[in-house]
Amino acid sequence: MTEQRRVIARVLAESCDHPDVEELYRRCVAVDDKISISTVYRTVKLFEDAGIIERHDFREGRARYEQVPDSHHDHLINLRDGKVIEFTSEEIERLQSEIARKLGFRLVDHRLELYCVPLDDDKT
Ligand SMILES: [Zn+2]
Repeated sequence: MTEQRRVIARVLAESCDHPDVEELYRRCVAVDDKISISTVYRTVKLFEDAGIIERHDFREGRARYEQVPDSHHDHLINLRDGKVIEFTSEEIERLQSEIARKLGFRLVDHRLELYCVPLDDDKT
């Protein structure tokens, strides 16, 4: 079990595309075919509770995960293919702190998700 956890942790660390549990399971099985999907589910929950990984809900009806990043970033979700682009904006960070301050608060954390379609998208 401990070894399987290590495999799951490593696969997560190497994934930069915010995989869901099923995708994570596929990648883990390629490393160790004895890993079951329920082990992946359990371990992901454990890692999440321990603050090692972050869960995201990008409105697709499935949770997606990433290792807690060293530095803060926000996400842009391409609604056409579900791909997630990470970005940071000093301007947005500053603006958010300013809004919080004006309302009498000190900003300690935030999440920002931009739901997008490509500029050349013709299906809208
Ligand atoms: Zn991310």
